[in-house]
Amino acid sequence: MTSEAAPVAGIPATRYAERLAGARREAARAGLDALLVGVGADLRYLTGYEAMPLERLTMLVLPSMDGAAATLIAPRLEVTPARGSAAARTGAIEIATWEETEDPMALVASRLATATRGRADEVATVAVSDGLRAAFVLGLQRVLPGARFSLTSSVLRALRMRKDADEVALLRAAAAAADRVVLTIANGRLVGRTEADVAREVRERLVAEGHDRAEFSIVASGPNSASPHHDASDRVIAGGEPIVLDIGGTVHGYASDTTRTLWVTGPEDAAPAPEFLRLYGVLQAAQQAATAAVRPGVACDAIDAAARDVITDAGYGPWFFHRTGHGIGLEGHEDPYIVAGNGEPLGAGMAFSVEPGIYLEGRYGARIEDIVVCGETGPDVLNLTTRDLLVVRG
Ligand code: ZN
Ligand code: ZN
Ligand code: ZN
Repeated sequence: MTSEAAPVAGIPATRYAERLAGARREAARAGLDALLVGVGADLRYLTGYEAMPLERLTMLVLPSMDGAAATLIAPRLEVTPARGSAAARTGAIEIATWEETEDPMALVASRLATATRGRADEVATVAVSDGLRAAFVLGLQRVLPGARFSLTSSVLRALRMRKDADEVALLRAAAAAADRVVLTIANGRLVGRTEADVAREVRERLVAEGHDRAEFSIVASGPNSASPHHDASDRVIAGGEPIVLDIGGTVHGYASDTTRTLWVTGPEDAAPAPEFLRLYGVLQAAQQAATAAVRPGVACDAIDAAARDVITDAGYGPWFFHRTGHGIGLEGHEDPYIVAGNGEPLGAGMAFSVEPGIYLEGRYGARIEDIVVCGETGPDVLNLTTRDLLVVRG
């Protein structure tokens, strides 16, 4: 499988010290003694460490107090990759390991007590990462009996939402790679193949085009296109029907996520049904309106409304039943959410999807999805594939 993918550099190792300092500052401002960050996107954001999600505890203990050491607590058998993380290599964090017979929670408590120059039962307020296993949360509550618990998202979201130039470059590279896959699939053979077979090809091509891994591949043909999160099935693709292609993966941890809708004419040249063309035209206008509305200061729900109003005015309102978009970065779905009721204003550097869809159950549906970065003066659209209906012979 050939590729045009030029290798792209990851986040510079020195950036993690800055991110840790920013997180400390936000934690202090929120009145927290420490952030306790388990395996997941927050840990990767702060340290560059993509740890295995194990039943054994891996946890960054990040005291808010200036000068107190940040410690990554890791099982002894994970010490090599932990030491290899960018934050450890650059000296921004210390590593403390625990043996199989030790209680890692006690280690968290003692590190925290040392950092705050007190006793573990005097630790007043901590935030734990949102995805931390319940078993770990209860373990922490046992060793920190005096502490009030909250979530790290309340302090890290402000940092993670606004992407710096290096993060935008990675999102752009991921988007470009996904765009190439969409076009290759659209121009390849489709009729007579199963959705699952096409989905497999999408995953292979995402990796061949420079993704670390393929995360998902929705291939929804015919009536399946009316189900937004359809899982590629054994249905055989035929001429005279649409396909919704929604694909994504990660490049140095940063996600791609793009959707295009195809109409497959087949060898019998079955042109798109007039009502499908009408629906698609409305959808395209809605997607365009929402994208055009992006600029700093505009509320997330105003972007949602920009798309929804076009669709509602055309009479398809009830058939656009999901939010217009989601933030994207180290997680495929993260803040900010482009949804009614979210009055948070956009700020420069925020990255999110704009992906309205219209779904007529039992018949067909369509969706168009781009990743958009809020620029200083307007939208910076990362996906560049045409948003016109892709009419292909298949
Ligand atoms: Zn989705
Ligand atoms: Zn998507
Ligand atoms: Zn999406």
